[in-house]
Amino acid sequence: MTETLLQKQYRFSVGLQRLLQYAHKQRYDVTMGETYRHPVQAAINALTVKERESLASLIQHIHGGVSVALRQQNNGLKGNRPLGIQHSLHTRRLAVDLQLFKDGEWIKEVGPYRELGMYWESLGPDFCWGGRFGDTPHYSIKHDGMK
Ligand SMILES: [Zn+2]
Repeated sequence: MTETLLQKQYRFSVGLQRLLQYAHKQRYDVTMGETYRHPVQAAINALTVKERESLASLIQHIHGGVSVALRQQNNGLKGNRPLGIQHSLHTRRLAVDLQLFKDGEWIKEVGPYRELGMYWESLGPDFCWGGRFGDTPHYSIKHDGMK
């Protein structure tokens, strides 16, 4: 029998519990980044800096708060690269981004994320650590060709 998306989402949340327990055992403190991402947010993330600025200008008169939020996303970004992708596993409830801390310091080196990534990938053949494609804090279960 083929696993449904809902069954895969259940399996993801069980895996996430195990990953967080493993991180705790390794004496890392963890904060949750994004888990579920609304498809509208994913579409906005897929816009370039310039496109987000255009959208912010366009809706300025309709909803100033949304314009401010869009411009905050552009804050400090250079070039014309999108922040993310539209078809993200976050929109399918199959991905999480974690921030690791040690002694109150946010860990920015890859090593500890890789350590958790190796554990994550040991949980099943479709468990994938984002460090394999340049997205270090991202842990997901593959689905429909996405990681
Ligand atoms: Zn992610």
